[in-house]
Amino acid sequence: MTAPGPLSLNTITVKALTLPQVIEACARHGITAISPWRDVLNAAGVDAAAKQIRDAGLKVTGLCRGGMFPAADAAGRAAAIEDNRRAIAEAHAIGADCLVVLGGGLPKGSKDLPGAREMMRDGLHAILPDARAAGVTLALEPLHPMTCADRSVLSTLGQALDLCEELGEGTGIALDVYHVWWDPDLARQMQRAKGRIAGFHVCDWKVPTVDTVFDRGMPGEGVIDIPAIRAMAEAAGWAGGVEVEILSNRWWAEDPEAVIQAAKAGHAFC
Ligand code: ZN
Repeated sequence: MTAPGPLSLNTITVKALTLPQVIEACARHGITAISPWRDVLNAAGVDAAAKQIRDAGLKVTGLCRGGMFPAADAAGRAAAIEDNRRAIAEAHAIGADCLVVLGGGLPKGSKDLPGAREMMRDGLHAILPDARAAGVTLALEPLHPMTCADRSVLSTLGQALDLCEELGEGTGIALDVYHVWWDPDLARQMQRAKGRIAGFHVCDWKVPTVDTVFDRGMPGEGVIDIPAIRAMAEAAGWAGGVEVEILSNRWWAEDPEAVIQAAKAGHAFC
């Protein structure tokens, strides 16, 4: 087994910090890559942040996040598409390797899951020309099916790969071990993913998990065989690093310095 590629710090892992503070902390800790969320990016100002990232020599492994297309009415769907166009421009401005794209959940009050999936598909087709023009890869991130109702009607790697094949150039996969580790079809789908992996996110599945979204563990705290999934990703052509993305009420309550130390320690379990 080779050593994991460089650690990229996803800003949600240290939610208490501003983007300038994360950039400064990365320099102090010898971390060479980041993945910002749009809220901290916009709070810092996209142009100012882009300059600070460039000056720090940081690689940007992704921008979180676009997608979330399904909406109850046409105006809502159009607004989501417009927001994704802004996200593509932001990803381009900071030199991000990709824009991470989530499916979005069911519109409020809806039980029409096939309809929501069509809205996601339509949204992706609508923004693909913008992404191609900007040279920004749309990295589709399937999420664990427990989030299907409220976050992502895109649930499996196979489903995401079907969309990549349909959409073609300008699309790829954001592979998050938290969301794919349980899938009995994972090994087979990873072979299909050859050349399509655009991001590799890590955290761990704790037993028990007490919150379906905000109780992720640091790598090594849970039951995911992260090196085995990384080996599959690398066999599929992934040559990038590992993005530590921890959504956790427990870790968010800790001192961000301690969280960064834990992320660096967790990197060794990847
Ligand atoms: Zn992720």
